[in-house]
Amino acid sequence: MNLIDTTAAAAAGARSPLEIAGTEPPRSEAKPSPAKPSLAGLDRAGLADALAQIGVSEREQRMRVAQLWHWIYLRGALSFDEMTNVGKGLRDKLSAAYTLDRPEVVVEQVSNDGTRKWLLRLPPDIAGDKPHDVEMVYIPESDRGTLCVSSQVGCTLNCSFCHTGTQRLVRNLTSAEIVLQVMVARDRLGDYPGRDRAVGPGLPTEGDRLVTNIVFMGMGEPLYAYDSVAKSIEVLADGEGLGIGKRRITVSTSGVVPEIEKLGREVGPMLAISLHAVRDELRDELVPINKKYPLKVLLEACRTYPPASNAKRITFEYVMLKGVNDSPADAKALVKLLAGIPAKINLIPFNPWPGTKYECSDWETIEQFSDIVFRAGYSSPVRTPRGRDILAACGQLKSETEKLSARERLALRAMAAAAE
Ligand code: SAH
Ligand code: SF4
Repeated sequence: MNLIDTTAAAAAGARSPLEIAGTEPPRSEAKPSPAKPSLAGLDRAGLADALAQIGVSEREQRMRVAQLWHWIYLRGALSFDEMTNVGKGLRDKLSAAYTLDRPEVVVEQVSNDGTRKWLLRLPPDIAGDKPHDVEMVYIPESDRGTLCVSSQVGCTLNCSFCHTGTQRLVRNLTSAEIVLQVMVARDRLGDYPGRDRAVGPGLPTEGDRLVTNIVFMGMGEPLYAYDSVAKSIEVLADGEGLGIGKRRITVSTSGVVPEIEKLGREVGPMLAISLHAVRDELRDELVPINKKYPLKVLLEACRTYPPASNAKRITFEYVMLKGVNDSPADAKALVKLLAGIPAKINLIPFNPWPGTKYECSDWETIEQFSDIVFRAGYSSPVRTPRGRDILAACGQLKSETEKLSARERLALRAMAAAAE
């Protein structure tokens, strides 16, 4: 693993030594001009507004929005000139006022199992402030490609085992910034019709898409950025555009109960709950939002989550912490707790980070735990800690908005060397 000081790397124009060929940087990577907003990432209403701004009549807007939608989301257009069915006059007006820029990719890393991590630079809230960096991770398998996206810069929730929680919240991402994470990944992978598709180890070989699934498991608590997340899911799932169906989009929450029901009713994606403990006393410590919404109310919200069914199960994430929550008694209590809920259980090996007081459970302990869960009728594929060599595991995303100390960097290098 090679942890990059992104600030220095960007300044030097440096690239990760792990970078491989086949991912041509998109043309739009040129520095965005702040004077011209980008239309990429907007929903239909946003596009209609943008058209109104340049004088397109209300009568014409619907048809023009459909054209823009097709070119931006289905074809991945990087410039208005590509939009051959839009007249030259309107194309010129569009380019004079807007761009199709994506956020700048500051670092791209490709792990030896095909996992990719990108660090994106987003503009600050206030002009002149430091920009925000957010990470996203692509996890390929033979039949699918999952993109782990962020919903906030940082997180306010301070779960005791989570690296992101140690970073103060800077801001919620906008819906466009969430959609743009997916678009950047597809740009980088050549995952649009007619583009040079990325080649390399570990990429999916089945199907014609490289990004097939989205998980909101990067930085931030998605249900604290509810409006952005809800709006972004509608754009991502639109069948005339990016077309990633809601069954393939999973929102992971630490348990913001009032928003769970709302998300199910208004949007309807798949749900994942960061459970991690079966007793309130322990969960209060690991996932402090439990003090506000304890297990009983959380599980009730799951039981009544509108989209859930046996075919659309809720995933319960359970991080394996040595000597903390990993006993056979915990496994039995977990199974009992989930009775009556259409559930999947996802045991996650803890990914250590510098300064954490926790350790990952031993492999035998994880197997024993997973056996108990399996015997109760749950398949529990232990989530492989992929991408450890680039520190990409979900939940371990932490942007470089706060710079790492030299000591932390050394610790990270040592950790990654052990994981190779
Ligand atoms: N805030 C949301 C989504 C982001 S975290 C949530 O908490 O659900 C995504 C998942 O990674 C969560 O289940 C989280 O608990 C888990 N996670 C956080 N830190 C981790 C770590 N160091 N090792 C393993 N999993 C971790
Ligand atoms: Fe925030 Fe999720 Fe990390 Fe908790 S586990 S601090 S909610 S990102």
